[in-house]
Amino acid sequence: MNGKNLLVKKKILNGVLLNNYKYENRNRRRQSNPNNVGLAAPQVGQSVQLVVIKPVPNNKTFALINPELKKKSFGKDSMEEACLSLPGFSASIKRYKKITVEGLNANGELIRIEAKGFLARIIQHEMDHLNGVLISDY
Ligand SMILES: [Zn+2]
Repeated sequence: MNGKNLLVKKKILNGVLLNNYKYENRNRRRQSNPNNVGLAAPQVGQSVQLVVIKPVPNNKTFALINPELKKKSFGKDSMEEACLSLPGFSASIKRYKKITVEGLNANGELIRIEAKGFLARIIQHEMDHLNGVLISDY
């Protein structure tokens, strides 16, 4: 597949992911659970390196394609995490406090994100999904 077709495929998948994400959020609101904050393509049966992230309910959702961890802090902290792929399960997970990630946005442009705190945690959680790692694996 050439680069342009791959990008088209990823744009379509991004749409699929966003729809799944909205659907999951609606379900969760109905169950009065906290909103989910991200979704990775493998969670909806798509074997591509793509995640969508929405850290705050009113924020715009953004996509990250082929994310690569470029920098990470020395320090880590722990927080209880849950996952759409593991209903009813949660675990305290240690993650880097600050990270720098590079990847492509939904338009195929290279972006660099310097994240800390909750956003850094979400990105690490979703990137784990791309490597087949779940919170139950920690
Ligand atoms: Zn998850």
